[in-house]
Amino acid sequence: MRFVLATGNEHKATEIAGRLPDVFSLVTQGSLGIGSVPETAGTFVENALIKARHAARESGLPAMADDSGICVAALDGKPGIYSARYAGETATDEANVTKLLAAMDGIEQRRAWFHCVLTCLLTADDPAPLIATGSWYGVITRSPRGSGGFGYDPVFLLPDENRTAAELSADEKHQVSHRGIALRQLAGMMLERYAT
Ligand code: IMP
Repeated sequence: MRFVLATGNEHKATEIAGRLPDVFSLVTQGSLGIGSVPETAGTFVENALIKARHAARESGLPAMADDSGICVAALDGKPGIYSARYAGETATDEANVTKLLAAMDGIEQRRAWFHCVLTCLLTADDPAPLIATGSWYGVITRSPRGSGGFGYDPVFLLPDENRTAAELSADEKHQVSHRGIALRQLAGMMLERYAT
């Protein structure tokens, strides 16, 4: 069964496709010439649904979408849905990390969590989309550490391990991450709903 993935990012598509059961295949909306849609809602789940509906409507295929980011307790959940564009519309990972560390300057309470929502729907009007979520808890460091991963990984510390997410291998990260949790949950729901 073929799904359109609501992203133009081939790297993300490979990562997700490689971890789904073989009965499902993915094509990115970017490769079908479908552009992105404005993420106008205030929560990850609503934005994931907006993206999936857009991809399904434009492609005529069942669609899958994800939305993720980092939430910091002391910043009332920010940067949250704005994680990718925290330091501006075209911000680099480094600029976002620098802005976050500056916002946390002098703050002792450093608890944070990554959150990921993955959704899947048959058509743009599907009344019962599959929705999987995963959260991954840690604390924000005072300076970046590690060279793996992307985004906020170098400042996301796992206190029990004394390692940042950027110091984990890709497989180690997938075992425990917000995206890994959501993807395993979604794969199970997809098999039950679509592959029987
Ligand atoms: P996306 O929309 O799922 O691509 O991610 C939104 C933003 O959240 C990314 O640009 C990153 O800044 C941040 N983010 C999401 N997941 C991760 C992660 O696993 N590690 C580090 N940063 C992440």
